[in-house]
Amino acid sequence: MWENMEIGLEKAGPAQLKVKPAQESLGFGGHFTDHMFLMKWDRQKGWHDAKVCPYQPFILDPAAMVFHYGQAIFEGLKAYKNTNGQVFLFRPRDNFERMNSSALRMCMPRLPVEKVFKGLKALVYLDRDWIPTVPGATLYIRPTMIAVEPALGVRPAGEYFFFIIMSPVGAYYREGFSPTRIFVTDKYVRAVKGGVGHVKTSGNYAASIMAAEEAHKAGYTQVLWLDACDRKFIEEVGTSNIFFKINDELITPPLGGSILPGITRDSVIQLALKWGVKVAERLITIDEVIAASNDGSLQETFGTGTAAVISPVGEFCYQDQKYLVNNGTTGPLAQRLFDELQAIQNGQQEDPFKWITRVG
Ligand SMILES: *Cc1c(COP(=O)(O)O)cnc(C)c1O
Repeated sequence: MWENMEIGLEKAGPAQLKVKPAQESLGFGGHFTDHMFLMKWDRQKGWHDAKVCPYQPFILDPAAMVFHYGQAIFEGLKAYKNTNGQVFLFRPRDNFERMNSSALRMCMPRLPVEKVFKGLKALVYLDRDWIPTVPGATLYIRPTMIAVEPALGVRPAGEYFFFIIMSPVGAYYREGFSPTRIFVTDKYVRAVKGGVGHVKTSGNYAASIMAAEEAHKAGYTQVLWLDACDRKFIEEVGTSNIFFKINDELITPPLGGSILPGITRDSVIQLALKWGVKVAERLITIDEVIAASNDGSLQETFGTGTAAVISPVGEFCYQDQKYLVNNGTTGPLAQRLFDELQAIQNGQQEDPFKWITRVG
């Protein structure tokens, strides 16, 4: 069926083209490019009507199942342009493979990865003038799948939309790294084994907003999540994976079903191993981190994710006690990982892991 499916192309007319925002004040997620990718699925036809078309709103029935039962999954990746105007994607197939694991868990249809990848490349190429060129700025890409069948009743929907939209985003760190302050919550939990914590599904984020709001009010940037059962094993920070460098060893929680298998997490592990850094994927408790902070063996803490790449943690607060990490400054390993990953993503550095794909 979809193996033979062509991807249609409807180009935006001159009147539909938007004025591009100034690159210096892009921020995150407020601007969208001229085109999008759209593809539909139903039980009879499978995936069909794949096209790159002008960015446009949907008309959805108020009974569309996504509004009621939340079958919605998404991904986040980026396109980069180097100084020669060449365009690169970072590990894009991994995002679509992960989306297929999400689809399986949420009883949603499997994506034809190569087809969707072809659609993504066509979309990025068509809107390549939207990829920012100021240092650190990139084009953020958001593939999404939602249930659109109009029906009430909890069951897998019979109709879905898959779409890709793209947003030019500013440099996460415009004046160099600024370490974040994080709030360790033992009041709220994000996920539990057997649930959907390892799935990039919208409900996880809706459920996390209240904890983040309370942390913001208390002056913190992010929430550090502990496991739901014992409230002592560290899981993730905000919407990023987390790493600790203790006694020259890089430690990150294992993928046990309640945390998201981050592509940046995997890239950091591979790079660190290549550099000869000792890496352990193992359970780590908040008490162990505090003990390491107290005896001086906690050298660095940082989050990893597509948006910020590496996000150093300068301070954390747990049960009303504050702990500084590396005197509130960015550690050398976080800095090295950030510089190396950014250079690979921008096509400025050799890519020994074959992570980047050139688009145009
Ligand atoms: C997306 C995400 C991450 C990071 O994944 P990357 O593939 O590195 O961007 C980590 N945790 C959560 C909860 C996420 O949603």
